[in-house]
Parts: sequence; C-alpha cells; structure tokens
Amino acid sequence: MPIAEDEIPAPRYREIHYCPRCGVAYRPQDFYPVEHLFLCTGCGFDFYQNPLPSAVVVLKHPDRADDVLLLKRSTAPGIGHWCLPGGFIRYGEAPAAAAAREAREEAGVEVQIGPVLSVGLLDYLYRGRHLCILEVAYLAHLSGPLPAAGLVTQEASEVVFRPVAEVLGTPETLAFPEQMTVLRDYQTLLALQPGAKNGQSPPPCAPESWGAQLVTGRPKVE
Ligand SMILES: [Zn+2]
Repeated sequence: MPIAEDEIPAPRYREIHYCPRCGVAYRPQDFYPVEHLFLCTGCGFDFYQNPLPSAVVVLKHPDRADDVLLLKRSTAPGIGHWCLPGGFIRYGEAPAAAAAREAREEAGVEVQIGPVLSVGLLDYLYRGRHLCILEVAYLAHLSGPLPAAGLVTQEASEVVFRPVAEVLGTPETLAFPEQMTVLRDYQTLLALQPGAKNGQSPPPCAPESWGAQLVTGRPKVE
C-alpha cells in the first residue's frame, strides 16, 4: 500500500525523482517501502531498488593458507585501508568472471576462482550514497605469478599477502568492516581442514578439497 510522505524512509525515496522510463515525476505515494519499489503511474514501470551484486576474492597464498591477498586502497572509499580484491558485477557478467576480473584489475594477479565461501549483505557508502550490496565471496588460488614486490595498481598502493588472524586483530584497518565476516568464514574453513589441530597451521588447502566443507555456501561448523 502507498504510504504517507512522512513515513517514507530517506534517502531512498528522495534520491529518485522521476520514472527512468517515461520521465513522469514520482509522488510519495508511488513509493512502496517494503519492496523498495517505485511504481510509475504514467507507464506502469515497476522500478525495484534491489541489492547490487558484487564479488570479492579470498585468494590464499600458494604456500601459506593462513595468508590471503589484501590491497591497500588508493581510491575512495576507504583510502589507506585494507580490503579484499573485489567490486561490482557488471550487467550480464558471470559473478565468478567478475571476481577474476577484479583480482586482475585491483591486485594485478591472475586467479582461478573456486567455490563460494560466503554470501552477505552490507551497507556501502559509495559516492555519497548508501548502497545495499549483495557480496559474493569466492575462494581462489593463483593461476599466475605472485604479485611483484612493491606492486602498485590503479586502485591499490600495496598488494600483499597477510595473515588472516593479523587482519582480524586490527578491524579498524579494514576499509569495509563487513569483510571481517568473510575473513572469519575463511578462518573457520581453515580450521576444518585436515591437519588443522592443536593450533597448528593447516596445510595449504587444495582446490579439489575446497568443496568438502561447503554445504550451502558457508563453512559447516559442528
Ligand atoms: Zn513511467
């Protein structure tokens, strides 16, 4: 049902003023907050504000499964903070292809994309707008050489493998706090690997074994 203007949650209503198909001005009652839908009375276009899909890569070091690739951002948001390689999935692009592309563009590495580690929803402040992001985190391993020492890309001032525990211990250094969840999921997955007992570092997980603990896209914890 349409709602009164004072009930419409900002900023999603006020940032869109016209139907993108026919140009008719939206009225408050044309916005349905539960569905986050603009329903145009001019042409009937149902303009849903759905989560935006993104893909990130959890790339383990080939010899040290505890270490994953992170980049220090040189672009907004989060300049100077660390994040996993990743970004928006383009229209029509396969999610795994997007993950591999982002690893190449942001971190300068070629990767083989493995199974999904986790899927989460996060609030992302992007160019002044709060976006609702659906983030798919993929496990991956290098299919090319390690990043060169001192590598700088268009989006990163540093590209290095870092121990997951170290990163989890300094959450304030992450550009996107929600990626703590992804890293925790990875740590949980490592702990489930054969040999990961008594505090010992687990062996590097072979790609063929990745799927063993992944049942519904998340590590199964017993
Ligand atoms: Zn319209």
